Amino acid sequence: MRVLLLGGTNEARRLAAGLTRRTGFDVITSLAGRVAEPALPAGRTRVGGFGGTDGLAAWLTAERIDAVVDATHPFAAEITASAVTATTRTGVPLLVLRRPGWHEGPGDDWRRVPSLAAAADPPGDRVFLTTGRDGLPIFAGDDRRWFLLRSVEPPPPPLPPRSTVLLARGPYTVEGELELMRRHAVDVLVTKDSGGEMTAAKLTAARLLGLPVVMVDRPPMPAAPAVTTVEAAEAWLERLFQTDTSPGH
Ligand code: NAP
Repeated sequence: MRVLLLGGTNEARRLAAGLTRRTGFDVITSLAGRVAEPALPAGRTRVGGFGGTDGLAAWLTAERIDAVVDATHPFAAEITASAVTATTRTGVPLLVLRRPGWHEGPGDDWRRVPSLAAAADPPGDRVFLTTGRDGLPIFAGDDRRWFLLRSVEPPPPPLPPRSTVLLARGPYTVEGELELMRRHAVDVLVTKDSGGEMTAAKLTAARLLGLPVVMVDRPPMPAAPAVTTVEAAEAWLERLFQTDTSPGH
């Protein structure tokens, strides 16, 4: 069974590793090509966009793909929409693998907002901004606040005039996040509801420091079968594989 895994996440790498250990699966992970030195998954990879929905549909047919797992980041809405349309058109089964979002707990002070644009006026003067480099232009006109910008790759301009860029890749620890936020006298955290353990330490640190968190909500889930764990995605593929290879099929 030939599987296209839309990747760029820790879950996609874990799923690729699990599937390459099983017999009967040929996995191709697709990466967008945004990061110069991405963490590479097990098995084959391809890099770069498909050229929109038409390009993806043509690629699925040309490569004789039997199933697609969209294991992209919860905020990668364009490739997810493209996967839904292209698989519907070609009749290739699609599964969405999305880690659960984060939830506010006792002691947290979160302000949920529906979009990054709605996060542009956070309640503080020294902002720890971990929303990724693509959304930075929204904050570029803010010359009143100071920003600590953390991203994997150097963010392109425009950036807020009063800012410090920190290049880093998770996972992060609570101790490390506490030290960072104290050292820079951060008084508000702005982040996206990415979910997962790799980057959750900043939320614990914000709680311990009594800081408000502006939490950008996820885009809506697509209309497609979905699971939240790598194990459930493996089980879905295994069931599809059994059906595909059952006598008489
Ligand atoms: P996006 O806005 O949904 O996608 C923009 C375009 O990039 C898509 O239309 C597609 O181009 C191409 N693309 C995106 N993901 C791709 C993939 N896995 N393989 C091939 N092409 C892909 O995506 P994004 O938010 O920029 O995210 C890009 C990648 O970074 C994804 O793989 C995602 O999992 C990962 N990532 C994103 C975030 C985030 O916060 N958004 C965080 C961590 C990791 P075509 O239309 O030409 O096919």
